[in-house]
Amino acid sequence: MSREQQLVAQARKAFESGRSRPLEYRIYQLKNLKRLFTERQKEIADAINKDLNRSEVGTQMFETLGLEGEINLIIRKLKEWAAPRPVEKNLMTLSDTVYIQPEPLGVVLIIGAWNYPWAVTIQPLIGAIAAGNAAVVKPSEVCVHTAKVMENLLPLYIDKELYPVVTGGVPETQELLRQRFDHIFYTGNSTVGKIIMEAAAKHLTPVTLELGGKSPCYIDKTCDLSIACRRIAWGKYTNCGQTCIAPDYILCEPSIQDRVIEEVKKSIKGFYTADPKTCPDYGRIINQRHFKRILTLLEDSTVAAGGENDESGCYIAPTVLRDVKPEAKVMQEEIFGPLLPILPISGLDEAIKFINKGEKPLALYVFSSDEKVINRMRDETSSGGFLANDCLVHFSISSLPFGGVGNSGMGCYHGKFSFDQLSHLRGCLVKKLKMEGVNNMRYPPHTPKKLGWARFFILKTADLGWVGRMMLLAVLAAVAAVVLQKYLR
Ligand code: NAD
Repeated sequence: MSREQQLVAQARKAFESGRSRPLEYRIYQLKNLKRLFTERQKEIADAINKDLNRSEVGTQMFETLGLEGEINLIIRKLKEWAAPRPVEKNLMTLSDTVYIQPEPLGVVLIIGAWNYPWAVTIQPLIGAIAAGNAAVVKPSEVCVHTAKVMENLLPLYIDKELYPVVTGGVPETQELLRQRFDHIFYTGNSTVGKIIMEAAAKHLTPVTLELGGKSPCYIDKTCDLSIACRRIAWGKYTNCGQTCIAPDYILCEPSIQDRVIEEVKKSIKGFYTADPKTCPDYGRIINQRHFKRILTLLEDSTVAAGGENDESGCYIAPTVLRDVKPEAKVMQEEIFGPLLPILPISGLDEAIKFINKGEKPLALYVFSSDEKVINRMRDETSSGGFLANDCLVHFSISSLPFGGVGNSGMGCYHGKFSFDQLSHLRGCLVKKLKMEGVNNMRYPPHTPKKLGWARFFILKTADLGWVGRMMLLAVLAAVAAVVLQKYLR
């Protein structure tokens, strides 16, 4: 038995013991997890600093703050989310108890990516715990130091049988994928997303795929370019461009291109000084493989700002590219680095056409002071999330579903969406063994008369208040029992 197999079997056994189910146990685990973020902030931040050169403040801001918020929300709301959810009934089921009962799925596999390793690995884990599941956590091997810290720390704070950590690369992940899970939650690129889905199909395991792609950003000439470019520069260069929802490229009219470049340059200087290489708030590319990949994307485009790089430190300066053609290398794949190409286009119509020619993006950004422009962009395109006049911040709103569509993913999470995504929403109907006369209409022999009654009882929804429902129920029960028993024998 491989180690992966053992850990999955152990998690399954722990799940079957039933201990992940009581709400108090779920909350107890989540409170312990929250304690990890505060007590071990330094270890978490040091590892991320080694992996991505992120500052300690940056780590709190972009990783653990959101996780703490998510846990606080669950502590407040779990009882409500986990409770039976009564639903609307038709007349046929008026006297029955009809509701949705969320129940745990079982053992969930969580495969994380390296760019925000705590946020994208632990946020699904929080949802899995809240929903009463066991979960096997597989951090990305690419963030070497963080994976180690996660492996060391998680078992000290949460139930290590229910929520084991498996580290390793492709062979270990593939061995995990050969096991049977009740859900797989994967964050990473679309190519591997297909491998995950294929493996899941063998066991008919449902998947959530949080993928990436090229998130477009349209700047309308009506907007305040200084504010727009500051927000875009922040969205692009945070974490050195290694953000799944970073604005990938800019579409704008040629007449504003120069000003856009100037404003982005101003923001770069304002955020990261004239020498970003020495600025503690400017990150590094995760490894040399990605460093080389990003530099190749520069080859056939014109650098308008930045472009400096240093392979030994995996440093690439915040870079702007001008007059970029749709055929350029930088436009053929998700950049996932600090390059910001600008594609001149004739206006909104062409921008919409261009966006719709590509795969459906994870995020779509529009900057405009004209509501009509914003609404047209929203209504005539499709994307995982849509933001007007800002970047990235939708990730922090737990009342919005976060996820992709089409090539950018399937399923969504955050807040109650995580809970629902990792629960089975079981449809329940509890009837009493009384009023059998009402049921005659559905039992053979089938007659047109019975059909008439069935039409009435099934198609009418009971949209009355509680008192109205009770009164109607009493009247209908009496009438139905008499009529059906008398005439439909
Ligand atoms: P990665 O290389 O760390 O891969 C992600 C996970 O897949 C890792 O745990 C890795 O072990 C596993 N993996 C890699 N190759 C595999 C294989 N052949 N078989 C089985 N498992 C394998 O991360 P990445 O893919 O480079 O991450 C970057 C991508 O993730 C970008 O496209 C980005 O947009 C996307 N992303 C999306 C979100 C989101 O929330 N939608 C968040 C972060 C990153």
